[in-house]
Amino acid sequence: MFRTVKVKLPFEQSLFQTAVAFNKACQMVLDYGSTHKTYNKGKLNKATYRQVRDVVPNLPSALVQTARDEASEMLLRTDFAKIVKKRLSVRYDNRCFKFYPDSNYVSLTTVHGRLNFPFKHYGYLDTWRGDYTNAQLIIRRNRAFLNVQVEVHDVEKKVARKVLGIDRGILNIAVCSDNTFFNSKRLRAVKGRYQYLKRRLQHIGTRSAHRKLQRLSGRERRFVLDTNHCISKAIVNKPFDVFALEKLQITRKKKNGKRFNRLLGSWSPNELNRFIEYKAESRGKVNVPVNPYKSSQRCSRCGFVHRWNRHGLRFRCGNCGFELNADLNASRNIEVLGKSEYLRLFVNEPIVASNEASPTEVVDGSYKLPLSRGSS
Ligand SMILES: [Zn+2]
Repeated sequence: MFRTVKVKLPFEQSLFQTAVAFNKACQMVLDYGSTHKTYNKGKLNKATYRQVRDVVPNLPSALVQTARDEASEMLLRTDFAKIVKKRLSVRYDNRCFKFYPDSNYVSLTTVHGRLNFPFKHYGYLDTWRGDYTNAQLIIRRNRAFLNVQVEVHDVEKKVARKVLGIDRGILNIAVCSDNTFFNSKRLRAVKGRYQYLKRRLQHIGTRSAHRKLQRLSGRERRFVLDTNHCISKAIVNKPFDVFALEKLQITRKKKNGKRFNRLLGSWSPNELNRFIEYKAESRGKVNVPVNPYKSSQRCSRCGFVHRWNRHGLRFRCGNCGFELNADLNASRNIEVLGKSEYLRLFVNEPIVASNEASPTEVVDGSYKLPLSRGSS
């Protein structure tokens, strides 16, 4: 099974210049191939190798070859159309890069020879260990990223991971599918107090009242921040490997509306999501965002969906009679959604973002970049 891990590299001229040279080489092969209607690697190599070396003399020959391979695959995909490689990227095979996740650096062949580039270590690098077979350097808006393809060997162990569903609401900040409730009682009480004080100070309107108001806002903000930190930490420390959460909402959900605002003010569910995500990642655990569509109307026992199933805080199934706390029922649905979403990610995720992203070779549902072998 193949996975891709992505790391951010320092944006250095050596990388940028390598990508520019690589694109130039790739383009020359593309032009030749579309004019002469061939994607045969041997033919392309014979016809273009010398010319490419003359035009970009400092591009190492291993990269001239991967540029040719990439061009050949693009020609095959596009049926010899005249294409321009716009995206700045470099393909690396196992001869021209070496990835060291324990020492946090990668060694890459560049136009200035073989160089080492550091990156930051994140937990997911430990989750996806295996043989590092291919890589792709991507340069975008003065930033450099490396997608590294990993061949993971002990897949079964990883698929059978435990999934925790998390639902967020008003009376409960978060409810987990393992029956844990994080209620918002204290949050609401403290926020209520601040709101009362703020209203009074606004009413007074003197300069010192204004200063006090600002101090109060800062304190309130830190209290909310701290609450989110505590809850997210408690959740990710649970003995689960996969956390299923509702997808981040860009704007506040309609159903929350006024009532939500009155009760929780500036409290942001998105912030809690972000905290859970990065804390989970730093522990080598996985996040799966799910679409929570109808998760509060669906029966977590029989799957019956109806809006009348929900009676305020209580969930009562009109089909099988199952009764449960409504938020807990929703979190169990999110767990199920998370499980299937997680498995789907496993099987179908298009791995290395190849240039125009269509898989060239599909083996057992996982995508493998063909390695260049043979000629030149
Ligand atoms: Zn039911």
